Amino acid sequence: MTDCLFCKIVARTIPATLLFENEHVIAFRDIRPVAPAHALVVPRVHVGGARDATAETFGHVLAAAQKVATDLGLDESGYRLVVNEGPDAGQSVFHLHCHVLGGRALAWPPG
Ligand code: 5GP
Ligand code: ZN
Repeated sequence: MTDCLFCKIVARTIPATLLFENEHVIAFRDIRPVAPAHALVVPRVHVGGARDATAETFGHVLAAAQKVATDLGLDESGYRLVVNEGPDAGQSVFHLHCHVLGGRALAWPPG
């Protein structure tokens, strides 16, 4: 998708701080972190969001999110994996992405 921000990051036409990549996904730092550790994992192919994702895509995204969390040193302290879908969740980029959040205590329930 030519007008999709995360497709442009996947294509490297927009820069991002890369943390991990494989044939299925890339992971990079969120530009406006809301926690000391805040990464995004996105599939290389354009998928609009959670409601469009297959089990296979979720598997690749979550497996990479697990690895990124470990690489960021969050295994002991813990972390949260979040996928915002649609208006009520405040989704703002319509290319599936999993937030990896950690480095501080995270409130529950979310706002
Ligand atoms: P959402 O609100 O859709 O769940 O999350 C979108 C996330 O993308 C936000 O946390 C936002 O800070 C991040 N973001 C938006 N634009 C950019 C960008 O150009 N680069 C990076 N690295 N993150 C972005
Ligand atoms: Zn896209």
